Amino acid sequence: MTTAMLEIGDLHVSYGQVDAVRGVSLSLLPGQIVTVIGPNGAGKTTLLGAAMGLLPSKGTLRFEGEDVGGLDVESRVERGLCLVPEKRELFGELTVLDNLMLGAYSKRMNGSTLRSRLDEVYGRFPRLGERRSQRADTLSGGERQMLALGRALMSAPRLLMLDEPSLGLAPLIVQEILGIIRGLRNDGVSILLVEQNALAALESSDYGYVLETGEIALSGASKELENDPRVQATYLGGA
Ligand code: ATP
Repeated sequence: MTTAMLEIGDLHVSYGQVDAVRGVSLSLLPGQIVTVIGPNGAGKTTLLGAAMGLLPSKGTLRFEGEDVGGLDVESRVERGLCLVPEKRELFGELTVLDNLMLGAYSKRMNGSTLRSRLDEVYGRFPRLGERRSQRADTLSGGERQMLALGRALMSAPRLLMLDEPSLGLAPLIVQEILGIIRGLRNDGVSILLVEQNALAALESSDYGYVLETGEIALSGASKELENDPRVQATYLGGA
């Protein structure tokens, strides 16, 4: 049996009295894009925050078979987990290059590894290479998302968790970003994709979970979910 890349079991996360994630279990096999869709406030961001170790949680969390639930964020990054947050969290007054360098910060890297990571990012995102000396706050929305992805790639992740990468982007740019995400998967990076844009997410993923009020309401192969009448009625505009 293949060892799951990520295995979350009976995860609970609370903010004081608010139980934001209530007994979520999910798994992601190596080389998969798995999506979590659901409405505003369903607990999607909270789920990713807990998986990354940014929020305290109860339950089990295994990464490539290892129990990582007790590890701090940096140790999870060392093992190959990486999160691109919804707000991208770039440093607007710093250049593209400086933002990329910050992505390498938490992994001890020598100069030549750093250089080859940068070359790889510029190879994947030629526009970041062209704009390397430009301030991040002068980039377009799509370019900022590319920079957020590029910064994450500097840590050589094996599992990339993406929180609403399509947020605020025009449809054509969304398709471009999703194409990049599929390209990453083809190059061996597994992806956990959280999206409100259900159609785009299901079309780009292998398996999906529907999260509603902190619980998994439905799950299945993305193609099946796309055709599920409940998903169509609630998330695909009755299409
Ligand atoms: P969105 O798509 O709007 O980002 P989401 O599915 O990512 O939504 P979360 O942001 O994880 O949902 O929020 C889940 C629940 O937890 C919501 O009810 C939210 O109000 C609550 N919540 C989130 N962050 C906090 C916080 N820091 N303090 C208290 N409650 C919070």
